[in-house]
Amino acid sequence: MIGVSGMRGTVGVGIPGAANRITGLVKNANSTRLIGQPLGKHLEEKLGRPIRVENDANCFAISEAAHGAGAGADAMFGVILGTGVGGGVVMRGECIGGANSIAGEWGHNPLPWMSPDEYPGAVCYCGKRGCVETFLSGPAFERDFAEHSGLAMNGPAIVASSAQGDSAAHAALGRYHDRLARALASVINVLDPDVIVLGGGMSNLPRLAESTSVLIPRYVFSNAVKTQIVLNVHGDSSGVRGAAWLWPHDAQGV
Ligand SMILES: [Zn+2]
Repeated sequence: MIGVSGMRGTVGVGIPGAANRITGLVKNANSTRLIGQPLGKHLEEKLGRPIRVENDANCFAISEAAHGAGAGADAMFGVILGTGVGGGVVMRGECIGGANSIAGEWGHNPLPWMSPDEYPGAVCYCGKRGCVETFLSGPAFERDFAEHSGLAMNGPAIVASSAQGDSAAHAALGRYHDRLARALASVINVLDPDVIVLGGGMSNLPRLAESTSVLIPRYVFSNAVKTQIVLNVHGDSSGVRGAAWLWPHDAQGV
């Protein structure tokens, strides 16, 4: 946090990737220019104050667990559906980084239960094919619509067309809901969170949480699914809030 005049605040930074806990070097960034760079160290040198760097989806999850849609949950999974697809795990108020700093990176698992026309999926920047991200990111949604309809439209235009009764746009939204349900079901089978909080630009699709909640029981290995699928509370600012929460309050403003 930037302190008021004469004070030296702490700084938290959310990035699309992860910083190695030993070396501080960035990996897994979809802004690939950051890969291999000691971003935190460079920022500390430039700003002359301590920096904490964390995955942006983890920052989002921390924010929503602290005072958002996941507040009070024993276990929550925060989901980013945007240009990329990421996630963060918060257990009893603590963000789980993991042995490899990749906890929650469901976006680079393959889409579960692919149909023959989905297999093997598009090539992902990570080097694999068929990653969840290649089906559920914003660009993936637009590409899927274009492949099925022959029309190039952006996400908001597809949503508007669906609202006006266009069957191709309606079908694209249906495929998106079902793929999200499948992808989240695989997370529930492993983590079994109380709450899944949806964030990122694609979480603004109409009725996304409701539609996904209806579809998820088809795929989860349980005869009943109590997991709540909810929208975030803090919108586009949620990741920034979580970055600020990387420091304990007694460290801020010092
Ligand atoms: Zn991938």
